[in-house]
Amino acid sequence: MPVELLGKSVEELREYIASLGERPFRAAQLYHALYAERRFEFSAMTNIPAALRERLAREATITPPRIVRRFPSVDGSIRYLFSIGSPMSDNGAKPAQIEAVFMPREGRQTICISTQAGCAVDCHFCLTAQLGLIRNLTAGEIVGQVLVALEENREQLAPQTNVVLMGQGEPLLNYDATMAAVRILLDPKGVALAPRHVTLSTSGIVPGIERLGKEKIRPSLAISLNASSDEQRNALMPINRKYPLEVLLGACRRYPLRPREYFTFEYVLLGGVNDTPEDARRVVRLLSHIRAKVNLIPWNPGNLPYRAPTAESIEAFQRILMDKGVSAFVRYSRGQDVFAACGQLALIESADLLSASPEVRIRRLEIETEL
Ligand code: SF4
Repeated sequence: MPVELLGKSVEELREYIASLGERPFRAAQLYHALYAERRFEFSAMTNIPAALRERLAREATITPPRIVRRFPSVDGSIRYLFSIGSPMSDNGAKPAQIEAVFMPREGRQTICISTQAGCAVDCHFCLTAQLGLIRNLTAGEIVGQVLVALEENREQLAPQTNVVLMGQGEPLLNYDATMAAVRILLDPKGVALAPRHVTLSTSGIVPGIERLGKEKIRPSLAISLNASSDEQRNALMPINRKYPLEVLLGACRRYPLRPREYFTFEYVLLGGVNDTPEDARRVVRLLSHIRAKVNLIPWNPGNLPYRAPTAESIEAFQRILMDKGVSAFVRYSRGQDVFAACGQLALIESADLLSASPEVRIRRLEIETEL
């Protein structure tokens, strides 16, 4: 079975290269070709001698996520449905489908990637939750989504790349593979992104937050808050029963933020559920003594039983936070016409769920007609 190289650190490549009897500096060349130059074919790695390239082609493999479909949005973003897992790879990972979104903006692009296929966390406003956990992604499958999205849009890349780990899955429940991928993304000799441009979003897995705080190299941290009381959060995010607000926010207060580092709290505003002025005042109290900004994300009506907040409630919520000194921004999710919420593409591709959900099937037909 050929050895999968995508996702290997420079140290792991050094070990592999040594096992071939090659000189150690070849590992750095391979690492550069894979992550800085995004070469997925050995024949294209012109920094490596031809004889070694031919040997690698026989004995190793590079398996980036395969694009199943592209869903371009009218706002310029592109949603990718990827197939991962290959019988040709040595990692034994079973095939699955995941999503990533490429979002170009003036001067930068943001790429949203998945860390698991499906998710076990069961947030009630999330379609990925309906898939359950299919499996953890490998480091190569995580970093590969960024590499493929960059390569696909090579001709139009802006100078800055942001990566958000906010697609399918809870990154802190796939900690080792996620952090192995993040280290490659942040390595100046790898993908070379700045730590403040890579954001890991968690539903609030406290042991993972504590572990992340001890890492020398780490991404920025976003926490999916979405509620102003335990009662509300238990109903929306059952993970809150395991890590209630006091425990979660206690971990945030103890987290060793660096100078100029802050938490981002994501708060999906669900009309009539968590968007009242009293909710806003409770959020202010919860976040006292935490260096934080809040992203308010108005809910997009879709296949789940929630409604969008009114323009007045969004504005009032933001004003209460700002008046009390909490930075708050209203963020509208992009690519709404090609399904903005994580998990939606994989969900509509799932035959079982298609037969179970006529509403989803109709949305799929609409998309296909648009394309
Ligand atoms: S919101 Fe994130 S953590 Fe919650 S179920 Fe969806 S993918 Fe999982």
